[in-house]
Amino acid sequence: MSLVTVGSVAFDAIETPFGKTDKIIGGAGTYIAFSSSYFMEKQNIVSVVGEDFPQEMLDKLKTRGVNLEGLQIKQGEKTFFWSGKYNNDMNSRDTLVTELNVLEHFDPIIPESYQGCDYLMLGNLSPQVQLSVIERLTERPKLIAMDTMNFWMDIAMDDLKKTLKEIDILIINDEEARQLSGEYSLVKAAKAIRAMGPKYLIIKKGEHGALLFHESKVFFAPALPLEEVFDPTGAGDTFAGGFMGYIASTDDYSFENMKRAIIAGSAMASFCVEQFGTEKLENLSKQDIENRITEFVKLTDFDMVQTV
Ligand code: AMP
Repeated sequence: MSLVTVGSVAFDAIETPFGKTDKIIGGAGTYIAFSSSYFMEKQNIVSVVGEDFPQEMLDKLKTRGVNLEGLQIKQGEKTFFWSGKYNNDMNSRDTLVTELNVLEHFDPIIPESYQGCDYLMLGNLSPQVQLSVIERLTERPKLIAMDTMNFWMDIAMDDLKKTLKEIDILIINDEEARQLSGEYSLVKAAKAIRAMGPKYLIIKKGEHGALLFHESKVFFAPALPLEEVFDPTGAGDTFAGGFMGYIASTDDYSFENMKRAIIAGSAMASFCVEQFGTEKLENLSKQDIENRITEFVKLTDFDMVQTV
């Protein structure tokens, strides 16, 4: 099965209570691609970088089976730059800088070889660009998932609402769900957001796990309690990459399989936060991932002997 990922490929500068980085490689598309690459031998990315983006990183993505035909390199322009600072609880952060650079006038190109893709993951980007990718695909994929963030809700809410009508599953965090719906209760927020278009909604709650809503059904998966969390940047994208990688590799988007995909995504996200940037995600083994998924299964496994 084929997967197309759209998302930023970026430079980030991150500050957490444990340290600070200079410009490192980040971007929603980068995290999604690395994460899903453990489930799919080949996949495709649509994005844009400036001439300042290191070839070495593009080579690393290629080595992991990521097709870069849809990644534009703009000569004379600069790569998107984002900087964020985490608060002491590591669950909330402030954006310090967003320099759109090449993203400001990004016009996505869908190579012929991407047409007919089965699954589409719209990573965090302007909702207008996300919509144009859907429109430029000659056939609608089986499942379209999308991420977004408060930045786009602040400056492009109308476009965002238009794009939401065209997708199947929205993957956002609790703060974003509250902002998008205007509801504090996540159950009410989920209802309001699903009325905007997506039939499925995943709300990520950082170290408190993730919720999946569909019709009257709800599924909850915890996050793995970790001894060390260095940098939560990209955890959401890594989750989305693991989730969609699992769905695409199993070619099953039933609610039951989405539950498994959430565990796969959560396992990948738990690796992401253990080091700064994409470092940890670049060199995992199949065994590492299988072991972590087993830890997840054990975490919630119990027998109820008596109810009341
Ligand atoms: P996450 O921690 O999962 O929310 O994702 C963090 C990644 O999103 C960083 O690597 C940033 O480069 C990227 N990012 C931040 N703001 C934006 C934005 N406005 N558009 C696209 N990507 C962004």
